[in-house]
Amino acid sequence: MRVLIVGGGITGLAAAHRLRERLGEDAEIVVAERSDRLGGKIHTVDFAGRPVEAGAESLLAARPEAIDLAKAVGLGDALVHPSGLKPALSLDGRLRDFPTGTMMGIPADPADVAAVADVKEGHGSDRPILAPGADMSVGELVRSRLGSEVLDRLVAPMLSGVYAGDVDRLSVTAVMPQLASALRRHSRLTDAVAEVKRPASGKPVFATVDGGLGRLVKATSAEARADVRIGMTVRELRQTPYGWEVVAGPVPDPMKVTADAVILAVPASPAARLLRGVEPEAAAALSGVAYASVALAAFAFDHIDLPERSGFLAPASAGRAVKAATFFSQKWPHLGTRRAILRVSMGRIGDEALLQSDDATLAKTALRELGEHLGQRIPEPVAQRVDRWGGALPQYAPGHPERIRAAREKLREHRGIAIAGAAVDGVGIAACIASGRAAADEIAAQLATESD
Ligand SMILES: Cc1cc2nc3c(=O)[nH]c(=O)nc-3n(C[C@H](O)[C@H](O)[C@H](O)COP(=O)(O)OP(=O)(O)OC[C@H]3O[C@@H](n4cnc5c(N)ncnc54)[C@H](O)[C@@H]3O)c2cc1C
Repeated sequence: MRVLIVGGGITGLAAAHRLRERLGEDAEIVVAERSDRLGGKIHTVDFAGRPVEAGAESLLAARPEAIDLAKAVGLGDALVHPSGLKPALSLDGRLRDFPTGTMMGIPADPADVAAVADVKEGHGSDRPILAPGADMSVGELVRSRLGSEVLDRLVAPMLSGVYAGDVDRLSVTAVMPQLASALRRHSRLTDAVAEVKRPASGKPVFATVDGGLGRLVKATSAEARADVRIGMTVRELRQTPYGWEVVAGPVPDPMKVTADAVILAVPASPAARLLRGVEPEAAAALSGVAYASVALAAFAFDHIDLPERSGFLAPASAGRAVKAATFFSQKWPHLGTRRAILRVSMGRIGDEALLQSDDATLAKTALRELGEHLGQRIPEPVAQRVDRWGGALPQYAPGHPERIRAAREKLREHRGIAIAGAAVDGVGIAACIASGRAAADEIAAQLATESD
């Protein structure tokens, strides 16, 4: 029995790991990865003598999947947590406390955010905000119920950190599924937030792996005992009377690989391309997912005075590129204090021109704006690097979960094919792991009924 997983990011690797658990040692699990390394958006690099993340930085520990996977692949003892310092909000030329008690910046009590935003509570009808099956953009929801300052100053910077997106084009149902389900019961947004906001449990919300998230990638791949084919681009996919066949490898030297089942764990556009000839409706649902680009500039300093914060978020303002900064070495105490490491994030959807600047220009812009946000002269860094993540963050438009549900229903008619990953089920690493595992479970169940 052979299962082919297309895409060696965390989704594909979590799927491979789960398939090994479900199918046992005899199954052949092949992971085809186009680039020259596993991990996709997870990429730990050596920077200024320390393992630093050039891509994704933290695991959500408030949900179980990422932590469980880390433990299952032998990294339980390597899990570490942030310092507990809070991020600030850069507003009106100074750093302010980010209000506590909000859900992605949306308050359960307007008084909680009154110090930083003028709340304009709008009351709709007494009917629940979302009708069954309905969806709306985060922008429309927050602007109409709490006013534009809550949206622009709090919610947009929070979401921009995760999606680099346009709040008027992001689906509430996709990006805040628990809130969306409460919105089907409540006519006031604040009541819905109050229902779903978890009381502070005292447990850390985030975690990472000492030595970098690259270790999670490596350990998951090792434990999956998969046949990993690095540098293998899958370009065509077709169903045969016996299962599936893909065409992979360079155009002048194509190679055919057959499999009993295939899991597509790639971004939306390659997934859509591969599915076009198999299931055009599923391909169309995927090709409608837009992507935003971001760039990260990392700096190391021998001496720099930083506020006692984990970093800051900055609302969009004309001409400014920096949307967030992480005081990496303050946020992650396991890195030690020998050198201060900062990571600056730039780029929101529509800002693509900025990201076309060369590395030196991007780094210079990041340092200049960092000084403006912190209100201080920034010393010369001892090391710097720029990482670009072009078209890396999916934008779930209103109706996304329903379109993906329908696409999956169509794909089930074919048997032995599943889609998973950030393109469909959520950008966070924990969500991607859950998605990869669910795809593996579905494929394992189908293969089991076939062999019966
Ligand atoms: C800058 C940045 C910071 C982030 N920070 C965080 C964070 O701190 N915490 C968090 O939880 N999430 C974070 N995320 C999001 C998270 O990292 C990603 O959503 C997640 O890692 C995506 O995993 P994936 O496996 O679904 O996709 P990817 O990581 O995109 O992996 C897909 C893989 O498929 C390969 N591929 C594509 N086409 C083909 C093909 N035709 N044939 C073979 N292989 C192919 C690609 O090369 C890639 O390796 C961040 C994302 C970015 C960009």
